[in-house]
Amino acid sequence: MKTIDDFNFDQKKALIRVDFNVPLDAEFNVTDTNRIEAAKPTIIKILEDGGSAVLMSHLGRPKGQPNDAMSLKHICGKVSEIIGVQVKFVDDCVGSKAEEAVAELKGGEVLLLENLRFHSEETSGDVEFAKQLSKLGDIYVNDAFGTAHRAHASTTIVAQFFPGLKCFGYLLAKEIISIEKVMRTGEKPVLAILGGAKVSSKITIIENILDKVDHLIIGGGMTYTFVKAQGGTIGDSICEDDKMDLALSILEQAKAKGVQVHIPVDVLAANDFSNDADTQVVDVDKIPDGWQGLDAGPKTLEIFKEVILKSKTILWNGPVGVFEMEKFAKGTISVGNFIDEATQNGAFSLVGGGDSVAAVKQFGFQDKVSYVSTGGGAMLESLEGKTLPGIAAILED
Ligand code: AMP
Repeated sequence: MKTIDDFNFDQKKALIRVDFNVPLDAEFNVTDTNRIEAAKPTIIKILEDGGSAVLMSHLGRPKGQPNDAMSLKHICGKVSEIIGVQVKFVDDCVGSKAEEAVAELKGGEVLLLENLRFHSEETSGDVEFAKQLSKLGDIYVNDAFGTAHRAHASTTIVAQFFPGLKCFGYLLAKEIISIEKVMRTGEKPVLAILGGAKVSSKITIIENILDKVDHLIIGGGMTYTFVKAQGGTIGDSICEDDKMDLALSILEQAKAKGVQVHIPVDVLAANDFSNDADTQVVDVDKIPDGWQGLDAGPKTLEIFKEVILKSKTILWNGPVGVFEMEKFAKGTISVGNFIDEATQNGAFSLVGGGDSVAAVKQFGFQDKVSYVSTGGGAMLESLEGKTLPGIAAILED
């Protein structure tokens, strides 16, 4: 796996795919700078080598048309501030203007290209467009995990024009190594905590992960499909009746593979899907009519704690309750605290994909776990066992 550490960028122009798809307010101020900060180490290494950086990204969904509100010019000042270099901007990402701006670029300088998605050829993965992009650098660096699952021109197709001269940036390399740790190289016992609303959206992950883990915690709304399938009474809890057979088959597969599955034994049930609802703790398989399970109960959290603290590699995907409502956030916060403790004791913990990242940020766990993935869809596809086209394109020579 080649990273930017395998190259000396002195006198070289690096064409870097970054993910600067950042949120902007009505005055075009960047309201969350995480993605820009995440790309900084890669850019700095290239500049310190004596190279220059040509940054390309998309912003929003302009659907192939120029759109002033989605111009990357709005973020140029913020990128300059964060990188510590006055970033130049060119109002197209291909063509003579962009090529001239690149030709003028000196070592230590940074150029930001206009939004890639102002051209429909970007998302269609057009080879000719990718060839135009490839004229803008000597070495291609992909540092955008968030789009690595897309076979777009700038994320995948362009790589074929850089044989032997393409690599991963630090951010993308870190994502790949973190996923590898969970899926292949992690110290045992390996635990996956899968929560969230529906079995249907997690099924491919569960099936893929059964070959990798020693323990599987199932939480959140998925719980009730498993409980009902086993004959429990779940009241008005969320349930996918058409997935009950699948749930039983997952439990059988887990048993055959020696994976210990931990499903909640008690829940905090509510008489309404509301923060003002009345609540009671009940056994997960005896939830009365008119009540629905919205968070893990105390006995369940004790079990989760024991499993989490004995694990050496932990993947967390999906909240174990309706954490958006304060009354039902305790389970998710507790799981975060247990993972924090396990991490302090030396476990490797990865949070990624979907709403667990939002939960981790909301409750301030991002610095307490080993790694929080930056790519929702890309992470989910990795956990499903798919090879991401953006990653494969760098690995092929
Ligand atoms: P996901 O995007 O699949 O990770 O699902 C996250 C969503 O699942 C969050 O919005 C949670 O509120 C929701 N969720 C978690 N537990 C439950 C539950 N017991 N009932 C309904 N929704 C839940």
